[in-house]
Parts: sequence; structure tokens; C-alpha cells
Amino acid sequence: MDKKEFLNELNGIDVRGKNVIALYNEISSLAMKCAGEITPTEGTRNAYYLSMEFLIGRGFFNNLMEIGVLDEVRKVLAGKGVDINIFEEIEDAALGNGGLGRLAVCFLDSAAGLGLPLHGYGIRYKYGLFKQAFENGYQIELPDDWQKFGDPWSIRREGEKRTVKYADMTVTAVPYDYPVFGKRINRLRLFQAEGSEEARKISEYLYPADDTEEGKILRIRQEYFFSAATVAELIENFVKRYGKKFDKFPKYNVIQLNDTHPVMAIAELIRILTTEYSIAFPAALSIARETFAYTNHTVLPEALETWKEEYVRKILPEIADIMIKVSLCAEKELSAYGEERISETAIYKGGQFYMANLAVYVAKKVNGVAKLHTEILKSKTFKAANSIYPDKFQNKTNGITHRRWLELCNVELSGLIDRTIGESWRSDISRLSKLKDFTREIAEEFIQIKTVKKRQLLKYIAQKENIEIQENFLVYSQIKRLHEYKRQLMTAFAVLELYFGLKDGSIKDFQPSVFIFGAKSAPSYKRAKAIIKFINEIAAYINSDAETNGLLKVVFVCNYNVSYAEKIVAGSDVSLQVSTAGLEASGTGNMKFMMNGAVTCGTMDGANIEIVELAGRENNYIFGATVEEIADIKQKGYKPAEYLEGNNKRAVETLIDGTFSDGGTGIFKELYDCLTAYGEPDCYFVLLDLKNYVQTLLEINYDYKDKKSFAIKQLENAANSAYFSSDRTIKEYAKDIWDL
Ligand SMILES: *Cc1c(COP(=O)(O)O)cnc(C)c1O
Repeated sequence: MDKKEFLNELNGIDVRGKNVIALYNEISSLAMKCAGEITPTEGTRNAYYLSMEFLIGRGFFNNLMEIGVLDEVRKVLAGKGVDINIFEEIEDAALGNGGLGRLAVCFLDSAAGLGLPLHGYGIRYKYGLFKQAFENGYQIELPDDWQKFGDPWSIRREGEKRTVKYADMTVTAVPYDYPVFGKRINRLRLFQAEGSEEARKISEYLYPADDTEEGKILRIRQEYFFSAATVAELIENFVKRYGKKFDKFPKYNVIQLNDTHPVMAIAELIRILTTEYSIAFPAALSIARETFAYTNHTVLPEALETWKEEYVRKILPEIADIMIKVSLCAEKELSAYGEERISETAIYKGGQFYMANLAVYVAKKVNGVAKLHTEILKSKTFKAANSIYPDKFQNKTNGITHRRWLELCNVELSGLIDRTIGESWRSDISRLSKLKDFTREIAEEFIQIKTVKKRQLLKYIAQKENIEIQENFLVYSQIKRLHEYKRQLMTAFAVLELYFGLKDGSIKDFQPSVFIFGAKSAPSYKRAKAIIKFINEIAAYINSDAETNGLLKVVFVCNYNVSYAEKIVAGSDVSLQVSTAGLEASGTGNMKFMMNGAVTCGTMDGANIEIVELAGRENNYIFGATVEEIADIKQKGYKPAEYLEGNNKRAVETLIDGTFSDGGTGIFKELYDCLTAYGEPDCYFVLLDLKNYVQTLLEINYDYKDKKSFAIKQLENAANSAYFSSDRTIKEYAKDIWDL
């Protein structure tokens, strides 16, 4: 079906008496027909992106835009008295947690946009990331039954199902294909687990609790489930086309492991080759070493997966044996490098499998996701491996698709860019840099657009959160998963210091400001949940103070997700990216804000460093200890108590002085103790950077008085953001890692 036929059929739709869900399914199904065939893997070389998460967001608007019919659909529906925005009721497909899952989807979008054969493989969870509600300021989690709206953007491939075997059960993996629209239509293939009740559990929840043995085993099952289904498919397709000359397998297939979750795919490839095709183990291992590449996403030790051999062996004895065998091969190969390096790179030791070490040993290329992060991987996390195979390690700074994160979420700014430099930036993002010559010229128009986007955001917040904010407010936003290293708690203290300063008159001449927070906490992460409660208490307290009401407000938006992010990044002035230096691998939220014309207030961490390199330090607000300074302080012995004085003390002690109530749970006191007591107090250096942070926020506030200069700074950021389009990132992967 072509576009014209699509529009004819669309015109023919009878909207009377149909609810949003029915219309959504009807229009989406029609668009699927218009989109044509999903390109299956072809005879040339293909890249496969294996990921436990795909944080898709809402498909409707994005897909119609990519097909090129969004405006027409809007018009046709308006002619029938239907406002296209009603489809915002359709909730996000949140089959992921945060940045890592969103990155996977941005990559698929860019590959399709560039016409590169990259296909996503993962799990079709019945329930995505929980829906967040607040009850008395506490986060509660509700199941995210995203399929209740139907799933019109997928096609179930009944004929391509296959079985995945565990020692104790056999599971059917049924593929569902989601088209990824662009210059070519790639596919995202998500497997659903079917069979017994136990079998179905495998694709029921994203990250089920893993604090018990049962939970850990379920997690291992999930990881193996989609890895095994994918590898079996690739081998089957290869054999069909090329027979059993497996030394050619890496010529046609490259498998990118998104973090360690799919690393068992390595063992599975070796298992199939050795057991089903009688390939000798060393040959199978070398095929694997030519096929896989691995992306590391974090240096936090708790996130580098290890699995007990006992658990793996219980359900996957052959996989356990193969991983041990690979470990022995690695040890032998590295025997000349000394005990220490052998131990550091060990794949199997002390009854545990070190999945990142397995990935690093086998992968042809290993990459970090921002310059600083890659440096840390090379000099610390994988120091030993890097000294042995220095050519393996690469940097691929993350990106975001400018189609969703600018063209779709900020039609107004996109229009201004078109009027200023023409439309070619949409298909070749590098041309966005032409905007650099016009930042002064278009500043006034940009201010108007920012006001429009702010108005839309604040209206939405008023509806959803029941908090009214005037559009003249300066908007500071911190939206990201809740984690101590991301330091939302530090922002909370900073906001309190501003508030107290306004109350006692020490802060004068302050531009009205709102702080927007958006974050979900992992359900079992008690301290993160305490921080949510604390910020909600602060918000209620400050918002109800009539004296400061016209100057300072705080909102913690509920159920932060991709769709909320689309509104917040477009309507904000200041992007808060304040992680402890060295701990945020890259960040991608920072890039979304930058592209939409916000200044970054942040630490020298992750991609913030590259943002200021490109957009200029003078157009952003950098503060806080650097990686080197933190290392230095750690070495000398950090004493947070020394920073607990004056304004800092006043803000931090609200945790224990009764200003706010935690309902007698003791969670605020626990936060306080964590900063001041325990063995290693304030290990994220909140108190160290707090004073500087407050000063920086005030500096921004001061600069905002000169609206035009501030707008120029914001525009300098947008104009220099082309580098952060995932089109650039994907081109680099295609050239340096995938050889597409
Ligand atoms: C972009 C995005 C993230 C990642 O944000 P960071 O600030 O990089 O941590 C997380 N969640 C959602 C919904 C996003 O859109």
C-alpha cells in the first residue's frame, strides 16, 4: 500500500462511536500495511543488537512521522473532529529501565534512517517497567500492562517459533517483529516465552527481583532465553544460505552485546557449533571471537554481573561447562602475563562466572560510551585486559536520535531551524552546525519558542501533577533513574538552600524558578525510595509557602517515562547533570536537553565533558570535583563532616530536625547517617560539591536576567549538538566495529 492509498483508507475510517484504543489500533494497523515488508536479514553482512532492554516509548507518533504521514493523519483526523493528541492516552512501551534501553532504540532508529542492516533482539515482556504512583509521597509500583492497548505495531511470527531448552524445562520462544522505520525498514524481534506456567514467567517481568536464589535463576533463564533463541536463528539462517562452512559465519554476522546481559550468547554459539555441527572447541571459540563485540555501560562494580556456577549449572549445565572451558583457554593464553593479570581477567574463579570478563576476552571489540568512560575502562575496570589487548578497546560516545528528540518533540524549534538554515539537517544532521552562524540573529524567536514549549510542559504538569507554575519561571530539570550516584539528593539540598536563602533574605534579586524532578527508583532500592519521599516532602513544603510561592517551586513528576521526557527536554532551560565525577558512563538525557537548547549545569562527567568541549564552557555551567580531585581526596581521606557547616548544615539537617516527616520510618535518618556516619560516609561526595552547586545555580539564575544572552547560550548548545545524534554514533559503530 502506498501513501496515497493509505490516506484514502484513512479518509474512509468511520470514527463514530470508537474509543481511543479502537482508533489507535485501526490507524496503526493501516500504517503497518502502508509501511510494507519488514526487511528480514539479507544475504549481505548484518549486525545484531542483543539487548535485555528496549525502551521504546510511544510508537504511534514516531512511526507515523517516520513513514512520513504524521501531518496528513493529523489533518484527516481533525477533519473528522478528532484531535490527534488523544493518542497520548496510549501508554509507552517501557520494555527497559533507562538510558541503556533507550540507547538501543535510538540505535535501531538511526540504523534504519541510514539504511544500515542492524536488527534488535530482546524479550517481549508482558509487563514493562512498573508504573509509578505516589502515595503520601512514597513511590509505589503498579504493573505496567502495556499490551492492554493492543500491540498493533508488531507481527507475531507463529511459523518461526523455536524451543529453548533448560535442564528442567523446555520453553517456546515466539518472535514478535516490530518494524523500525527509516530509509530501510529494519526489525526489532522480541521473543515471548510460551509453554508451562513456569515457562511463561520468563517473559513476564522486566528485571524481576533477584535478591533470592529463585530470582537469580529466573534472571539467568531470561538472559539465556533471548540469547539462545537469537543465536539458534542466526545459525539456522546461515546454514540455509551458506551450508556448514562456519569459518564464514563471522563474515555475515556481527553480534553486538549491549552490556553483559546477553553474554551467554557466546557460550550458546560455541555449544551449537560443537554439539550440533561437530566443530572442534578451539575452532568454535575462534568463530565466536570473530563474531561478538561488547559494549560496557557502567563502571559501578555492583552492575558488572557475576553468576554463581551452582545456579547456572542447575539449569544450563552445558553452558556452565563451556564457560569454564573458555576460562581455561583464556588462562592458558594469558599464562605469560603473571598471576595478577590472570586473576583480574578471570572468567571463572571462586565458583563464580564474571560475565564482563567473558565478554572482554571473547569480543573482537570492546567499547565504552563516552571518552572519559572509555579511559576509565582502560585504566581501571579492565586495566589488565587492556594491557594485554590494547587494540580491542574503543570509544563510541553515545547519541540520541534527533528524529524523536528534536523533530518530533520540538516541531517548533525544528521549524525555526528549517527557516534559518534550510531542511537538509533533517537527513544529514551534521548540517545542523550551520546554525552556529545565526544564534544571535534568531535569539528572540528562540525565546518565543522556548516559551511555547514551556507553556505546553507546564500545562501538562498542571493537569497531571496538579501544580500550577507560571511560564515566566526559569525551568531547571533533573530527570533520570533515581540513583545515589546521580545525586538527586544533592539537588534536593541545593533547592532547600535556595529556599532558606529566599526566606532569610540572603538571596535577593532571584528570578522565579522551578525545579522539576522525574525518576523511578528500583523497587528494592530503599535509599533511592527515601530520596523520592524526601523530595516530595520538600516540594509540598515549599509549594505551600505563600511567601516564596512566586519565586520558587518544586515538582516531582509522577511516572517519568519517554513520553514525559519528550515534553520536559523541550520545555526546560537548564539540564541538571550532576553525577559524581567518574560514575556516569555517558548519559543521554544530557544530549536531549542540549539538542533542544538548554544549558547544562553539571559536573565534568560522562558526555558532559564532550558537551562543553563542543558547545563551549562559557555556554554551560560546570562545577564540582573532577575525577582526579576525587581520587586525590579519597586518598587523603574524605571527611564529609568538614563540609557540614553553614547553609549546608541547615539544609542537610532537615533530614533529622523534624522539618520533614518520614512517617516514623527512620528512612530520613538513614539518609543522614549515610552522609555522615558509617564506614565510608558520603561515598558519592554530595557534601563536597554542594556549596559549589548552589553557587552555580545562583549564577545561572543571575545570568537568566539577560534573556537574550541566555538564549544565545542555549542556542549555542543546540547548534553544536549534531555530534550527539545517534546517526553519528551508528556510523562509527558501522565503520569501526561492524564493518557494514
Ligand atoms: C534518555 C532517558 C533516560 C536516560 O537519562 P540519563 O539522564 O542519561 O540517565 C532515562 N529514562 C528515560 C525515559 C529517557 O528517555
